[in-house]
Amino acid sequence: MNEIKSAKSVFSGKSRFLQLVFVDIDGMAKGMEVPIERYEDVVKEGISFDGSSIPGFQGIEDSDLTFKADPDTYVEVPWEEVAKVFGYIYKNREPYYADPRRILKSVTEDLQKEGITAYIGVEPEFYLFEKNGSWELKLPDGGGYFDLLGLDKAREIKRAIAHYMPSFKLIPEVLHHEVGPGQHEIGFRFADALTTADNIVRFKYLVKAVAESYGLYATFMPKPLFGQPGNGMHFHISLWNDGKNIFVGDNGVSEEALYFIGGILEHAKALTAITNPTVNSYKRLVPGYEAPVYISWGYANRSALVRIPAYKGNSARIEYRAPDPSTNPYFAFATVLKAGMDGIRRQIEPSAHVEENVYELDDKARALLGVETLPSTLAVALEALKKDKVVKEALGKAYHNFIKYKTKEWEAYQEYLERKGIPMDSMEVTEWELERYFYV
Ligand code: GLN
Ligand code: MG
Ligand code: MG
Ligand code: MG
Repeated sequence: MNEIKSAKSVFSGKSRFLQLVFVDIDGMAKGMEVPIERYEDVVKEGISFDGSSIPGFQGIEDSDLTFKADPDTYVEVPWEEVAKVFGYIYKNREPYYADPRRILKSVTEDLQKEGITAYIGVEPEFYLFEKNGSWELKLPDGGGYFDLLGLDKAREIKRAIAHYMPSFKLIPEVLHHEVGPGQHEIGFRFADALTTADNIVRFKYLVKAVAESYGLYATFMPKPLFGQPGNGMHFHISLWNDGKNIFVGDNGVSEEALYFIGGILEHAKALTAITNPTVNSYKRLVPGYEAPVYISWGYANRSALVRIPAYKGNSARIEYRAPDPSTNPYFAFATVLKAGMDGIRRQIEPSAHVEENVYELDDKARALLGVETLPSTLAVALEALKKDKVVKEALGKAYHNFIKYKTKEWEAYQEYLERKGIPMDSMEVTEWELERYFYV
């Protein structure tokens, strides 16, 4: 019997502590635990903390921030005496500008003013590894896409995760082996953008916790292994007005859906800085592994950046395939929605859809189709972000925090490469990346 199950059997089922959770600029969960008796207090008054010690937040000279819980997000961890709650961050009683959850909240409120609710579903992928101290990762299984390995612990682990998902307000939909050896995917029910962003944070916690109880490590880092598929987290997006999906069209999808795609393609380079925000993200965006490289769209085409999945009835949606699970989901949804809405507002027609395998077209053929390339490094993506007004505005003043923080990250990587004598354009996954991103 694994640890989580045995812990659950001794736990009475009543939370004695409350964990107050928010995410930093990287989207990493942070927080503190307070005795459950303080629940009222943390909803009404909030509790203060040191914002200078949270990556991407405040300077040391002006560090006081306050967290207030959002009671709608309360869930109980079944195997521990702790409940979790998300919330919002305040500074001097005003909403704090760099709070990722607040940033997404205000984007969804803007949409709401136009009567629109965005629904998003995601497909998070992860690897399960055996790991003993060093960074020599061992794969516990040698499976591939849709394999059902008889002696595979991974299926049991996925089922254990699915078993606990409802306690975290997640509705599991599909569990399967992915293309990479030891790579898996668990899909859960789509929801409004803010709820799905919260769900991603809970999901990653749950997957890691259950994997660890089986003595394995789950990693969501975008490209843990050179030469193997990376971890993506595709977004499926639809916009609803008055209970109606406005992406539904007579022949395929509606004009709005196509304009939304037009907006995403126009802002794709800048968006990449947000949806693929790590040095390691760009080692996934290479040909040959079903990850996008070129700025194109299509229907059944899994080499395209944006795809329109075949649908029935009301499930018309667009699939955006660039994002990876190292993204801060609040920033990602805020910026992608703003980019798509810009497409609708300005009626941006997307370029012609491409149904060929774009990896196999030569440069000339791609140029003829007007197909450009996604940024090849974090540095290139950050430059694109600096030039994109719409994507910058979606982040508000937090844009400056983001650029500053990510520029430092890129520089630290450059220093590492130099020190080790590794060529600057190496696509190998370095120890620096494993150390920094294994636990994203
Ligand atoms: N792992 C692929 C990616 O990096 C996706 C593979 C799939 O879901 N078909 O996006
Ligand atoms: Mg899938
Ligand atoms: Mg997948
Ligand atoms: Mg997909």
